[in-house]
Amino acid sequence: MILLDIEGTTTPIAFVTETLFPYARTHLTTFLEREGGSSEVVGTIERLRREFEADDEARGQIRGWSVIAYAEWLMDRDRKSAALKDLQGRIWQDGYRNGSLAGQVFEDAARALARWHAAGVPVAIYSSGSVLAQQWLFRTCEGGDLTPLIRWHFDTAVGGKRDPASYTRIADMTGVAAAKITFVSDIVAELDAARAAGLRTVLSVRPGNARQPPHDHRIVTSFDEIELPSA
Ligand SMILES: [Mg+2]
Repeated sequence: MILLDIEGTTTPIAFVTETLFPYARTHLTTFLEREGGSSEVVGTIERLRREFEADDEARGQIRGWSVIAYAEWLMDRDRKSAALKDLQGRIWQDGYRNGSLAGQVFEDAARALARWHAAGVPVAIYSSGSVLAQQWLFRTCEGGDLTPLIRWHFDTAVGGKRDPASYTRIADMTGVAAAKITFVSDIVAELDAARAAGLRTVLSVRPGNARQPPHDHRIVTSFDEIELPSA
């Protein structure tokens, strides 16, 4: 099995930082005006409110509860918030649906997904973006709908990407032995965690990726270089 990170691995980091994040920020208010009453979004807002109530720093800086003020405050700080990720995923879904957004996947990554699928090698995605956001990204990219080539999607509901236990959980949930999983990511700390859980690891080097500390993980600049793992 192949386990893939998205940002900096299947997809340019710039798509996330220069397209997706600004889109969510720009459309936050109109999205909430239109969809804020739907039961799913009400649940997300309620989770954000609970996070806000437990967030002393935010409560010290924002006067009173406002979903928009708190969401913007979290985005300004690039805070890891499950509820914010959920809200961003819903705003992106809207954009993908109406054609304002289209997913970006490196050509060699799309080609590899097809190659692995044809060879019967299952593929899973593990990204900090919500599963909903992941699915829309792969559904709407230039190479067509790639979601039929992906067996599983995982987000941080299974745990953080720098925690070995997350990779053990993914192995358990897919029923694939850790030693038979190859994890590809642009972040050495994530690869270290995966290796600690017994996975094979590959560092993805793409234009715009952050410099990584010294390491001994295998390096690829294209998925063409990733050979099929033996069964
Ligand atoms: Mg990444």
